[in-house]
Amino acid sequence: MKAIEVIDDLKRRFPNEPEYIQAVEEVLTTIEDVYNDNPEFERYNLIERLCIPDRIFAFRVSWVDDKGKVNNNMGYRVQHNNAIGPYKGGIRFHSSVNLSILKFLAFEQTFKNSLTTLAMGGAKGGSDFSPRGKSDMEVMRFCQAFIQELWRQIGPDTDVPAGDIGVGGREVGYMFGQYKKMAREFTGTFTGKGLEFGGSKIRPEATGYGNVYFLLEMLKTRGIDIKGKTVAISGSGNVATYTADKLLTLGAKVVSMSDSDGTIHVPEGLTREQLDYIFKLKNIYRGRIREFAEEYGCAYYEGERPWQRVKCDIAMPSATQNEIDGDDARALIEGGCMAVSEGANMPSTPDAIREFQKARLLYAPGKAANAGGVSVSGLEMAQNSQKLSWTEEEVDSKLKQIMCDIHEQCVKYGTETDGYINYVKGANVAGFMKVARAMMAQGIL
Ligand code: NDP
Repeated sequence: MKAIEVIDDLKRRFPNEPEYIQAVEEVLTTIEDVYNDNPEFERYNLIERLCIPDRIFAFRVSWVDDKGKVNNNMGYRVQHNNAIGPYKGGIRFHSSVNLSILKFLAFEQTFKNSLTTLAMGGAKGGSDFSPRGKSDMEVMRFCQAFIQELWRQIGPDTDVPAGDIGVGGREVGYMFGQYKKMAREFTGTFTGKGLEFGGSKIRPEATGYGNVYFLLEMLKTRGIDIKGKTVAISGSGNVATYTADKLLTLGAKVVSMSDSDGTIHVPEGLTREQLDYIFKLKNIYRGRIREFAEEYGCAYYEGERPWQRVKCDIAMPSATQNEIDGDDARALIEGGCMAVSEGANMPSTPDAIREFQKARLLYAPGKAANAGGVSVSGLEMAQNSQKLSWTEEEVDSKLKQIMCDIHEQCVKYGTETDGYINYVKGANVAGFMKVARAMMAQGIL
């Protein structure tokens, strides 16, 4: 089947999965040239096999809350593709989770993991359970019930989950504990573990730091210095806070952060003390970003995202998918934004991406810019296999190198005739070719 026929066919077969179709369409429209150059791909119906997940597990998760009420959530694991390594990808706990979102994330993960140069296939999982407002004990009971069902399908050489939205160190710890008990093994089946039980140094920081390292490479292509630049960040979770952390270290000004309720605006830039406050607010007190505005008396835009409100040189969306639409993109460009580097997965709609590229902005899609997280997860797996623990400096320098390599691949496959680097095309082509060649070599499975 031709790429365009695959898109039409998937639209017909999965009409209620818009995020999945959006992600597939974005990739397939950028790899057409290399696909047409390799007629054997069509003979082996490779594209369709690459777009449809290898398998999907769906299950009920029943758990008892603190009041004794029995709750039922849905749990899922999408094992998308393991042509180049064991399935690998995070677990998301959020009320919005459904199969369309997990299928898009697992599809994206396959290309991202391929780009990292490490041996990891693509997967994603999660539940419509939201840890927000739940006690520690409720979260623990939910994680245990989730793994009681999932543990048979994962393992250190089979499928290695990690965190994502709503799943941080606490949740990974509970899930790893339950897995260890059910499987009767102590292996690197999860990444993002605590340092005391096999976690890697720099894993919590990796996605945010990696995104900044990627941004620096992009800025270098135009001779721009990060120092003094204003950066708008969305989100205030793992990715957002460590992005801000690295930016502050490099002398940039972080002028916004947000959560699902609203956005704070600090035109003079967050101080280190203020960022520490946000970190504690989100990770220890599990509060809302509005409380930051109350504490420091800054502007707070209830129910709004940063993009229409906050003028910036650089935007680093780090909350969720489709959080920048065409209007947001136009507002950013009009406000003087010159670069967008995505910490979140697919935060820009197709309309927004078109605007960024039309205006010749430096624009890095999540699958390239946020690959630092899964890269250090891959390094965590390597350390677990060797029963070794590398130093912070070692892991950080490997992370930097991987982000530089990813940037180089994007330049190699994405540079257009006028010199503009189309990072979307570059990342998709580089990620696709490796998986495609491995699938061809392994036969029709
Ligand atoms: P966290 O749960 O730590 O933080 C998520 C942040 O985004 C929170 O501030 C949350 O606000 C906000 N948010 C979540 N959903 C929405 C929504 N629907 N609308 C507005 N704001 C929302 O997650 P992470 O930081 O880990 O993940 C953020 C993004 O980065 C996701 O797209 C994830 O897939 C991606 N990513 C994460 C990696 C990692 O290593 N953790 C690796 C690569 C990508 P609230 O507190 O109100 O829910």
